[in-house]
Amino acid sequence: MTHTSVAAYAAPAPKAPLERITIPRRELGAHDILIDIKFSGICHSDIHTVRAEWGDGGNFPIVPGHEIAGVVAATGSEVTRYQVGDRVGVGCFVDSCRSCENCRAGLEQYCTGELGTVNTYNDTDRHGEITYGGYASHLVVDENYALRIPDALPLDAAAPLLCAGITLYSPLAHWQAGPGRKVAVVGLGGLGHMGVKIAHAMGAEVTVLSQSLRKKDDGLRLGADHYYATSDPATFEALAGTFDLIVNTVSANLDLNAYLGLLRTDGTLVQLGAPENPLPIAPFALIGGRRSFAGSLIGGIAETQEMLDFCAEHGLTADIEVIGADRINEAYERVLASDVRYRFVIDASTI
Ligand SMILES: [Zn+2]
Ligand SMILES: [Zn+2]
Repeated sequence: MTHTSVAAYAAPAPKAPLERITIPRRELGAHDILIDIKFSGICHSDIHTVRAEWGDGGNFPIVPGHEIAGVVAATGSEVTRYQVGDRVGVGCFVDSCRSCENCRAGLEQYCTGELGTVNTYNDTDRHGEITYGGYASHLVVDENYALRIPDALPLDAAAPLLCAGITLYSPLAHWQAGPGRKVAVVGLGGLGHMGVKIAHAMGAEVTVLSQSLRKKDDGLRLGADHYYATSDPATFEALAGTFDLIVNTVSANLDLNAYLGLLRTDGTLVQLGAPENPLPIAPFALIGGRRSFAGSLIGGIAETQEMLDFCAEHGLTADIEVIGADRINEAYERVLASDVRYRFVIDASTI
């Protein structure tokens, strides 16, 4: 397989600062498109991965980035879905087996085939090559794993929809956030702020549950109807038995039993963040009220397209701070300090 070299930003080793390197991208296969990357969001997962905090090692150098927005620059000989000049995005995966039950059902993120879901970076693709993500000038991807970004969405603020947006859209859609439903979003960060916007646009009554009231004005501006501080024990008394659905975006260990107590009968608490340690659940927190504790991981290709179209229809994008590539390491520190409202996006022309 022949390759061309493109510019990228990579972590050369665990915990090392990111630096500019060149990486190989494969020559276009028949079904591949070449994307001229315009913007790439910074997701908390990028930081976990380059710091090797998820215990699965890593294929260093790692080029992170799975919130990718750009323009098609070339197409393979048999590409039918896209043309040069089309606005496209790529999210958290770039391939899957395409034949297992989940892939056939449009749930490629839960692929159970031998290939499995091929992550956009720090994974091995069907050609046996390491995948490199979106902190780069260009990306080659199979047309079936790209998304169309509607004209109504600016590329910079649309980029975070490819991970943060779909991570919230999928559970909100699956558990039917909508008119007459009370939805709580735990945590108002990169994920949570998209949860508030999307749940509000779906017509649900939205409550933010945040550690403090520091971001209350923001939360209400983003579409929340109510905002409570979880550091105040009175919150858990006042809201007991209130919600049909709670989506938990926090990656730290919370007292989930306290949150389960906020659900109505048949309510569901959905875990989106992945804390390092197990989460203890008291059985009676579920049994008393037929409550459910569930998890959810991004979304499939068809649902991600549905999310982008929904966001275009409702004028939703992420709140972003655009940075040059030379500020990636500084941005990582600020993400870890929760000092961003609400997503950093790298201007790929600076890579
Ligand atoms: Zn992500
Ligand atoms: Zn599969």
